[in-house]
Amino acid sequence: MLWLDDKLKPPWVEVELASLTQRRQGKRKQQSSVFSWNTRLTKYFKAGQHHKTIEHFQQMQQQGMVPDSFTFIRVLNACTSLRALEKGRHIHMQIVESCGESNVFLASGLIDMYAKCGSIEDAWTVFSKMPTRNVVLWNAMILGFVKCGQSQRALEVSKQMECEGVEPDRVTFIGLLNACASVPALEEGRHVHEQIIQSGFESDAFVGSSLVNMYAKCGSIGEAWRMFNAMPKRDIVAWNAMILGNVKCGEEQKALRLYRLMQLRGVKPNRVTFMAVLNACASVAALSKGRRVHKQIIQSGCVSDAFVGSSLVDMYAKCGSIEDASSVFNMIPVRDVVAWNAMILGHVKCGQGQEALQLSQQMQQEGVDPDSVTFVGILSACASVAALEEGSRVHKWIIERGFGSHPFVANSLVDMYAKCGSIEDARRVFDRMPTHNLISWNAMLGGYAMHGQAEEALGHFEQMCEKGVEMNSVTFVVLLSACKHRGLLDEGLHYFESMGSVYGISATVEQYTCMVDLLGRAGHLDEAEDLIKTMSCEQNACVWIALLSSCRNHSNVKMGERIAKWVQKLDPGNPAGYVLLSSIYATAGKWDLSRRIEKLRLEKGVSKQSACTWIEVNNEIHKFVTSDDKHHQMVEIETELKRLSMQMKDSGCWPDTKSVLGDVEGNTVFHSCHHSEKLAIAFGLISTPPKTPLHIYTNLRVCDDCHTATKFISKLEERAITVRDGNRFHCFEDGVCSCRDYW
Ligand SMILES: [Zn+2]
Ligand SMILES: [Zn+2]
Repeated sequence: MLWLDDKLKPPWVEVELASLTQRRQGKRKQQSSVFSWNTRLTKYFKAGQHHKTIEHFQQMQQQGMVPDSFTFIRVLNACTSLRALEKGRHIHMQIVESCGESNVFLASGLIDMYAKCGSIEDAWTVFSKMPTRNVVLWNAMILGFVKCGQSQRALEVSKQMECEGVEPDRVTFIGLLNACASVPALEEGRHVHEQIIQSGFESDAFVGSSLVNMYAKCGSIGEAWRMFNAMPKRDIVAWNAMILGNVKCGEEQKALRLYRLMQLRGVKPNRVTFMAVLNACASVAALSKGRRVHKQIIQSGCVSDAFVGSSLVDMYAKCGSIEDASSVFNMIPVRDVVAWNAMILGHVKCGQGQEALQLSQQMQQEGVDPDSVTFVGILSACASVAALEEGSRVHKWIIERGFGSHPFVANSLVDMYAKCGSIEDARRVFDRMPTHNLISWNAMLGGYAMHGQAEEALGHFEQMCEKGVEMNSVTFVVLLSACKHRGLLDEGLHYFESMGSVYGISATVEQYTCMVDLLGRAGHLDEAEDLIKTMSCEQNACVWIALLSSCRNHSNVKMGERIAKWVQKLDPGNPAGYVLLSSIYATAGKWDLSRRIEKLRLEKGVSKQSACTWIEVNNEIHKFVTSDDKHHQMVEIETELKRLSMQMKDSGCWPDTKSVLGDVEGNTVFHSCHHSEKLAIAFGLISTPPKTPLHIYTNLRVCDDCHTATKFISKLEERAITVRDGNRFHCFEDGVCSCRDYW
C-alpha cells in the first residue's frame, strides 16, 4: 500500500505502520546484535580462548539472542579444540532444534567435531542422515576417519563417493593420500596419484607434499625421491616427509644431509623436523650432531614443546649421555609417557637400574599412564639389580593395568623372575602365557642356565625341538652356558656340533667362548687353544680370557703367559688379562712377578671394573661398592664383619688367598673384608630378623674368598643366601653352594 501523501493516510493505517516499523526495527536490532555477538565470538576463538568462546555463547543465549549458523559453527569449533564431547553433543541438540538436520555447513562442522573428539560413530550418523552430500561433507567424513586412525574406512568411503559421482577436490586428495600413508596402502596410493594427474592437481604444492609423504610412509622411498626432486617449490611438509621417510628406512645419514640441505635452502625446520632429526641422531648415536640440533631447537623456541622434549631425552639417552637426558627431562613442563620411557630405558642401558626404578616410582606418583614399553623398561631395571620384591610389585601393577598377557611384557616378566632368583615364578608366568615365541623360550632357557639347572635346561631345549621352535644363535649361547655351569662336556660338544649340522646356525664368538670355557675347566687346555685357533669367525679378547682363567684354575703358568699376550694384543685396555696373569703368578708363589704385573697395569692406566653389590631390604635397594664408607650404617656393618671374622677364625676355616691379592688388610681373617659382597651380606644380617633369606646381586664374578665366606655364614647364621654374580646364581645353604664350587 503506497500513500503518496502522508496527510491522506487514515488514522488506523498510522497505527498499523507504527507497529510494523517497531517490529522491523526489533528484527534489525536482533540481527545487528547477533552480528556483534558473533564478532566477539570470533575474536575469542581466534585468540585461542575456547572456554571464553563457549561462555560468551551461553551469555548470548541468556540474553535472549537467537544464534545463527555462524554462531553455531564457531562454538562447535571451540568444543572441537577443547575436545569437549559432551558440550558438543549439547550444541548438536540445539542445532537440530533451531536449524534442522539438513544444513550442510553445520553438518560438516558436526562431523569434524565428533571425529576430533573421538566419537567417529556419531560423525557417521550425522553424515548418513544428510539428504544430499556435497564434496565438503565427503571431505569432512574422509578426514574424520583419517584423524581417528580409521584410514581403511576413509578409503572405503572414498569409493562410495566415486559411485555417487561426486568430484573429488584437492582436500579430498590430501585426505586420501594421508589415509594411504597411515594404512600404509601403496597400491591405493598409486591409484590416487593417477586420479590426481587426471584432475590436474599434481602441481599443487600441498598435494605434491602429500604425495611425497605418502610414498615415503609406504616405504617406496625411490618414488618419494622422484616426486620430491620434481617439485618446483618444496614446503616444510615435503622436507619433513623426506627426512622422516629416510629415517624410517634406516637411511639416517641421508636424513641428516637432507636436514642440512633444507636449512641451506632457507626452509625453517619445525617441531616435526626436529623430532625426525633427533630420531636419526639417536639411531646412529650421533651425539655431537644431536647437541647441535638441540641448540637449533633452543633458537627456534620449540624447546618447551613436550614432544620435542621427549625426542631430546630419547636422543641423549640413546647416545649414552644420561646426564644431558636428565637435565632436558627435568625442564619439560608436562612429561608424557614417551619422555618417561626414554629416561627409564636410558638408565637401564647405562647400568643404572636403581635410578630407573626410582624414576618409575616417581612416574607412578605423578599419575602418568604407563604403556608396554614402560613395563619392559621397569622389568629390565628390576632384573638388572635383582630386585625381586620390587619386581613382584611391578607384576601386580602390570596385571592391574591389563598388560599381563602382552607378549613383550610377559617375556620380560619371565626374564625378570629368572634373573631375580625366582625360577619358580618365571616358570609360572611362562606356563600361563597363551603363546610362546622364541624370546619366551630363550628367556626360560636362560633362567635354567643361570640357576645351574642343567637338566631342566636340556629338557626345555628338547621340548623346543619337539614343538618345532625355530632356534637362533642366542638359544645356543644359553644352552652351552647351561652345560658350562655344570661341566657337562660331552653334552656341550654334542650341541656345539649339531648347531651347525642340524640347525644350520654358524657359530659366533659367544658360542666358541662357552666351548673354550667348558674344555678349559675340564683341563683340556690344549684342545681349547686349538679350538680358538681354528675358529670360523673372528677372535676377540673374551675367548682368550676364558682360556686364561682356565690356566689360572689349573695353575698353568707357561700357557698363561702366552695367552695373556693374546688378550693384551686384542684388547689392550681390558684389565682381565693383567688381573688373571697376576693371580696365576701369585698362585704359583711368584709374588715378584705378580706385583710387577699389577704395577704394569697401573702404569698403563688400565683400571679394574669396579665391583658393586645390591641388596633389597624392606622394599629398598642398597648399593655397596668395594671399600665403601658412604653407607649410613657403616659402623654397624664393620662390627658385624669383625664378629663374623672372629667366629670364622675360631672355627679354623681360613679363606682362600688366591684372588685377593692387593686387598690384604692384615687385621681380619677376611683378606677381602671390604669386598662389596661382604658389606652387603653383613648389612642384610643386621637389618633383617634372624633366619630371613638374603638375596644379593653383584656385578662381577664372585671371588673365591667371598664364596668361602658366604658358605660359612650360611651355616653359622642359618641363613639361605642367594647371590647372583656376573655369571650365574649361587644358592648358599647350610655351608654348601648350589654351584658345587664350580663357577
Ligand atoms: Zn670377594
Ligand atoms: Zn657358588
